[in-house]
Amino acid sequence: MIDKYIEKICAEKNISKEEVEKKIEKKIEDLDGLISKEGAIFIIANSLGVELNRSALITDKIIPGMKNININLRILNMYDTIEFNKEENKGRVKSLWCANNNIKTRVVLWNEVIDSIEDIKEGDIISIQNAYAKENRNNSVEIHCSNYSTITKTEDESIPPFEELKNKSSNYKQVNISQIKEENQKVQIKANIVNIFPIKFFEICPECNKRAKLVQDKFQCEVHGEVKPKIAYVITTILDDGTETIRATFFREQVCKLIGKTDEEIVNLKEDIDAITYELETIKGDLVEVKANSKLNSFTNQIEVNVNNINKNIDIDNEIKNLKEKIITYN
Ligand SMILES: [Zn+2]
Repeated sequence: MIDKYIEKICAEKNISKEEVEKKIEKKIEDLDGLISKEGAIFIIANSLGVELNRSALITDKIIPGMKNININLRILNMYDTIEFNKEENKGRVKSLWCANNNIKTRVVLWNEVIDSIEDIKEGDIISIQNAYAKENRNNSVEIHCSNYSTITKTEDESIPPFEELKNKSSNYKQVNISQIKEENQKVQIKANIVNIFPIKFFEICPECNKRAKLVQDKFQCEVHGEVKPKIAYVITTILDDGTETIRATFFREQVCKLIGKTDEEIVNLKEDIDAITYELETIKGDLVEVKANSKLNSFTNQIEVNVNNINKNIDIDNEIKNLKEKIITYN
C-alpha cells in the first residue's frame, strides 16, 4: 500500500521516488517518530495537494502502539474539556466515550483537535484520521488524537443507532418495572416518581465512605479508627411506570441530581427538614430515567433498586412520539 501511495505522489508531482522517501524520513524525524511511515506519507501528500484514498479503515480491533488509525465511531458520551497548566506542560484535553459495531473505547483529544468537534454532539458519528492507540492505567486501550489527527462528522450505516449502542455499552438493560424479578439485574427504567420518603442523613468515613459510628462522642470507622466524618444522605422513592411500582433508593450524587441542588446546599439544609421536604414535594410526579441495580430487601422480602444514574432531562416530545407509535402498532 505504501509503495502505491509513493508512486502516486511521484506520478502526480513528477518527482523521484528517492525524493519522496527523503521527505518521508524528514517528516518522521521532525515529528519525533510520533507517526508511522504511512501517516507521514499522508501529511506529505496533503501538503503537495495529492489526494490519497484511505482504504485502511479499522473496524474491529485496536492494539496499543498502533499509529495512523482511521476509524469511524459514534459518540456515546462527551466529557468536559480539562485545561491543565503544570509548569511547562500546558494544554487542554477532552475525552469521548465512543463505539461502533465491534469496538467501544475512550477517545482522548489533545489541544487544537478539540476545536474541530465544536459543532459535533453526542450521538453523531465521527471519522477519526491519523490517531494512535495507547494503553491506559487501567489496562484498557484508548485512541488518542493529537494535532496531526483530524476529526470530522460523517455518516456510516454500518454503525448501530445511538440507543442500541448505549444500552450495549453500559450493560444496563431497558426493562419495565414488572420485569425486575431478581437481584443483581442491571436495569434502565423510565418511570414517574409517585412517592418520596423523607431524606436521611448519616456520617461516613472520609477515607472509605463506610458508615462511621458514634462511640463515646467520637466517630469511628471500622477500618480507619477515629475519623472526622463526612455527611452522606439517601432518599427512597417509589417509581411507577404503569406496569408495576418499585422502591428506588438514591445516594448522594444521585440525590443532588434528583433535586437539583449541590452537595453543599443539601448538607446546609440538614437542620432544616421542612425546606428539604418542600423541595421533595416539587419533584413528585416527575418522569425520570434511571440506571440501577436490583437487590433484595431481606427485611420486606421485596426486590428494590439502587440508582446509579438518573436522567431527568427526558425528551417529552420524543416520549409522546414513541407512545403514539406503540399505540399505532397495537391497533
Ligand atoms: Zn474508613
